[in-house]
Amino acid sequence: MERTQVWASGGGVQSAAIAALIVQGKLRPDLCVIVDTEREQSTTWEYMDAVISPALASVGVKMHRVRKSEFEHRDLYGGKDSDTLLVPAFTTQSGGVGKLSNFCSSYWKREVVKRWVNSQGVKAVDLWLGISVDEMERVQAERSAKWANRYPLIEARKNRGDCISLVKSMGWPEPPRSSCYHCPNHTQHEWREIRLRPADWKAAVQLDRELRAKDPHVFLHSDCVPLEQADLDDANGVLFGHGCSSGHCFT
Ligand code: SF4
Repeated sequence: MERTQVWASGGGVQSAAIAALIVQGKLRPDLCVIVDTEREQSTTWEYMDAVISPALASVGVKMHRVRKSEFEHRDLYGGKDSDTLLVPAFTTQSGGVGKLSNFCSSYWKREVVKRWVNSQGVKAVDLWLGISVDEMERVQAERSAKWANRYPLIEARKNRGDCISLVKSMGWPEPPRSSCYHCPNHTQHEWREIRLRPADWKAAVQLDRELRAKDPHVFLHSDCVPLEQADLDDANGVLFGHGCSSGHCFT
């Protein structure tokens, strides 16, 4: 059975490298898609609209931007009673600091990509994900016969530094790191970058407050204080590491 080659862009550095390989003629997907979680940092779309989409269009490749709400009704909460927070926030519920599970990258990204791809009438899919060789722990085998994951940057043996060099060799500016503006997995540096952009920062602070209106133990920053009061200095280490294992965030 013929397999449709689908690139699921994450909108970040590794995805820009895949775009560069497409523009160079080294890769050719049948479909390209990026999910708009409707909470993405503004810089992702600025870069996509100014650099990636026009470059792809120059070689006849269209990037489809799919709104999450078109294919998924769950937003911040899910579960049987719709009271399970889907983002990996920090919680003081048990006395110490814990971290909630990361359901959002699956509900908001992976499943939305699959539903959109299914809506295109494909039979079997090789789903390209922009994971580089320095992120091998994020590689996941897809179990169904219809869906197989492919990792073009690993096949090309490129690490994150190679990706940045490749993007620069195209004359493109270095891509911003893509993620939701409120993501609890942000590093201190990323939070500081977001603080420099008033609209994204205001939205993150507002969401942080709204989460505690429902559960007073939940916070976006590991300091477990309101986001605007968190110490964003590098010396204040973030707990529980960084990043998502799904392959659909931070790519
Ligand atoms: S970037 Fe963070 S908040 Fe957004 S979907 Fe991924 S894990 Fe969830």
